[in-house]
Amino acid sequence: MTGSQDPSFPDIRESVRRLCAKFPGSYWQALDRDRTYPTAFVDTLTREGFLSVLIPEVFGGSGLGLGAATAILEEIHRSGCNGGACHAQMYTMGTLLKHGSAEQKAMYLPKIATGELRLQAFGVTEPTSGTDTTRITTFARRDGDDYVINGQKIWISRAEHSDLMVLLVRTTARDDVAKPSDGISVLLVDMRAAIGNGLTIRPIRTMLNHATTELFFDDLRVPATSLIGEEGRGFRYILDGMNAERILIASECIGDGRFFIDRAVAYAKDRLVFGRAIGENQGVQFPIARAFVQLSAAAEMVDKAAAMFEAGLPCGTEANMAKMLASEASWFAADMCVQTHGGFGFAEEYDVERKFRETRLYQVAPISTNLILSHVATHALGLPKSF
Ligand SMILES: Cc1cc2nc3c(=O)[nH]c(=O)nc-3n(C[C@H](O)[C@H](O)[C@H](O)COP(=O)(O)OP(=O)(O)OC[C@H]3O[C@@H](n4cnc5c(N)ncnc54)[C@H](O)[C@@H]3O)c2cc1C
Repeated sequence: MTGSQDPSFPDIRESVRRLCAKFPGSYWQALDRDRTYPTAFVDTLTREGFLSVLIPEVFGGSGLGLGAATAILEEIHRSGCNGGACHAQMYTMGTLLKHGSAEQKAMYLPKIATGELRLQAFGVTEPTSGTDTTRITTFARRDGDDYVINGQKIWISRAEHSDLMVLLVRTTARDDVAKPSDGISVLLVDMRAAIGNGLTIRPIRTMLNHATTELFFDDLRVPATSLIGEEGRGFRYILDGMNAERILIASECIGDGRFFIDRAVAYAKDRLVFGRAIGENQGVQFPIARAFVQLSAAAEMVDKAAAMFEAGLPCGTEANMAKMLASEASWFAADMCVQTHGGFGFAEEYDVERKFRETRLYQVAPISTNLILSHVATHALGLPKSF
């Protein structure tokens, strides 16, 4: 278990640590400087089968489940690496697995399992809708055997490094449906055919190296067979996948937090000021201990949410709580680690400042803290909805 002294999947964790040791800080620093994609790292993870643990064996994956996936991502992040470049290859296929037709699954899942096909782009967010997903306006109009897509998406990560994309579109306007979440559909778009034929990708440079982009759809034609499940029911389909995403990202935060605590403990023991290790001062010790306490509690919540997901239980509230606690614990640990390192916390070669920037993302994406609190207030506590 991620929260205990006796972690789950010890063999997997050990293998991930060995793999990550081949990608030290200097590798990530160089990529970060140029904002380039960690292709060698992602290829190695793919080859070793770490990105296909959620795909059932019948489709060529190892079918180990979400607990194993959380262990993998936690260790990647604890090692100072970043799973953000490829974590979506693990879970984006969940919508296809759960709601795709037998033909779609047979056609795509085995190739996703081997990495021959990369499905790691998930197109939901739009510039004008923000978190209010039912207000998306990217529209797919049925035209004979095709859909014709027009609209715009923003913050779509890894689009330039993906062969397929799970895309959320409106197939009926919001004004023409009974419930705002009706009339939304999921398409599996083949990016290789789409780029230059109605799909334009524009990279967005951000405070961290995350390969995120803006997408423009201008009469993009995709075959009607790209539809996953039933037309108009797509909003429901993606919710389950979002729970998996939140739990997995929470496990990355746990890994980040452990990275910061490991580094802070080591530095506090080594750094001598006023003739003694800075870690002898309680003013330095206590924030490290506090970070450990908070992270340990958050890790228990991540484990609980993952276990509920694996058992097929409703876990929307737990997945949200795990993501919120873990992202806040990792951010506290990040700030503590910079402070413990003094000036060296700002030096590129220590990796602390890079991880500090990377872990900040998770209080905003894939869902911001306020929206989690709103979910808990209304769903778990029965308070009135404010929007
Ligand atoms: C690096 C990066 C990568 C991303 N990757 C992807 C991706 O691959 N695919 C994808 O679809 N999206 C992606 N996103 C988008 C991400 O999911 C959104 O940025 C996030 O959900 C927040 O939405 P928003 O930016 O539209 O903020 P907004 O919805 O505009 O909200 C702005 C702020 O206001 C707060 N707020 C809004 N409404 C309320 C309210 N009613 N009550 C209280 N507070 C409120 C929010 O909590 C937030 O802090 C990514 C974003 C980033 C930055």
